[in-house]
Order: sequence, then structure tokens, then C-alpha cells
Amino acid sequence: MRYTGAVMSCLFCKIVEGSIPSTAIYQDSDCYAFADIGPQAPTHILIVPRKHIASLAATSEADAELLGHLVTIAAKIARDKALVNGYRVVMNTGPDGGQTVDHLHLHLLGGRHMTWPPG
Ligand code: 5GP
Ligand code: ZN
Repeated sequence: MRYTGAVMSCLFCKIVEGSIPSTAIYQDSDCYAFADIGPQAPTHILIVPRKHIASLAATSEADAELLGHLVTIAAKIARDKALVNGYRVVMNTGPDGGQTVDHLHLHLLGGRHMTWPPG
């Protein structure tokens, strides 16, 4: 695989490949899920594609199957974690969306009541 500069310096690419340690929650050939280092809820898990995609804004119709897979895995993990009262799935996108790591990721948050609107 040819790596671009963005991929080589990407924190979540390094977590996916294991050169930066993380607490694994789930993994398959297309995605990796791990515990957020700064949890904002009793359950706070990040679900990322193994391949580098900068953000939701960088996706196209060609990524529909992968995006659907990520959402489905979020629901599976929520079931596995017995989040029976519900949970929140978030994709912060770009500067106004509050995205701080430029590798597409879903936040799965649960275990407490969430308020709306978000900050
Ligand atoms: P964003 O702000 O881009 O939506 O989410 C990035 C998330 O990555 C944050 O919730 C932050 O706590 C988490 N994070 C940042 N660096 C690390 C790290 O080195 N390890 C893990 N497990 N999570 C991280
Ligand atoms: Zn990456």
C-alpha cells in the first residue's frame, strides 16, 4: 500500500495498525473500535474504518457500504454493552462540527442521559 503524508501522520491510522496502543472493543476486516482516551460518558467508544478517510465530508456514494457497516457495528456494540436505555452515535465533521482527529470516526456514547441540543 502506498501511504500519503496525511496517512503516515494520522493518529487513528497508527491506532488501527497498532503502533499506538488502544483498548480494543471490536474489530473486523473493515473497521476497528476502541475506547476513547477521554470518555465523555460511562461508555465512550470510537469506531473507525481501517482505511484512511479524513471525514464524512470526504466520502461519496462509493463509501455507502462501509458507512453503513460502521453504523451497524455501532448498534452491535451498543447491544453487546447492554445500552438498553439508548445511546448516541455522533460523527463530528470538520472544524464547525468539532472534529479534532482527521480520520473519520463514529462516537458511541451511552450509560447516561444525553441532553439536546449539543454544545
Ligand atoms: P473528535 O473530536 O475528532 O470528534 O474525536 C476525537 C476523539 O479521539 C476524542 O474524543 C478524543 O478523546 C479521542 N482521542 C484523541 N487521542 C486519542 C488517543 O490517543 N487514543 C484514544 N483512544 N482516543 C483518542
Ligand atoms: Zn487515518
